[in-house]
Amino acid sequence: MSHERVELDYGVLVRELEAGLDAFVQGFPLDSFRKGDYKQYPVITLLACSDSRVPGNMVGNMFNRVFTVENIGNQVKTGEGSILYGLLHLGTPFMIVSGHSDCGAIKAASSDFSGEPEALRKELETVQQSLNQGQAGMMGNLSNDDKLKFTQLAELNVDVQIEYLLSYPEIKELVEGKHLYILGTMLDLHDVYGGGYARTYLSNVNGEKNPDLIKGYAELGSIASKAKRIS
Ligand SMILES: [Zn+2]
Repeated sequence: MSHERVELDYGVLVRELEAGLDAFVQGFPLDSFRKGDYKQYPVITLLACSDSRVPGNMVGNMFNRVFTVENIGNQVKTGEGSILYGLLHLGTPFMIVSGHSDCGAIKAASSDFSGEPEALRKELETVQQSLNQGQAGMMGNLSNDDKLKFTQLAELNVDVQIEYLLSYPEIKELVEGKHLYILGTMLDLHDVYGGGYARTYLSNVNGEKNPDLIKGYAELGSIASKAKRIS
């Protein structure tokens, strides 16, 4: 689970940070913000992995649009209250649960993490439980190829998160009333699905996992054509 530490120049990093903060001020949509009432009106509650290669802006502009919850292995249970706030109080019409290829949390949860600090162990145990549950419900088998296997597990993990969300009667009601679409997506950073790098695939919609049936969701427009699974 160790990660190689690279030598970094703090001077450069601080300048980059400063430039980033300045760029946000320059790009801040003050006019449109003034016209509004300064409240937030997100349309997506996004549960994604904390992995720095899975940025929230993969779904486009984030400002006043995306309510973001990130944790290792994109677990509902690790950020449950925040997610419920997005869905039940902010009322976002979309919930996206995004898994991704080469997920370090999925790999770590599949290895021996007993020597980690308690808080980290606890989060990895949550990931591990999701993986066990996902595997128990899978139709086929996991690949012998690690790259493929860990991506399959990440996909199954997304299914488990959506199943858990739907166990809330309030959330199920929103979905049934078409006030909320829960989209399970896989960000394929490593071209494991064979369609190219950095593509996003739709692996689950409101608990439906069959790509052929997902493609029939006309209300999802061309997004529905991104339905694809490897598990
Ligand atoms: Zn990850």
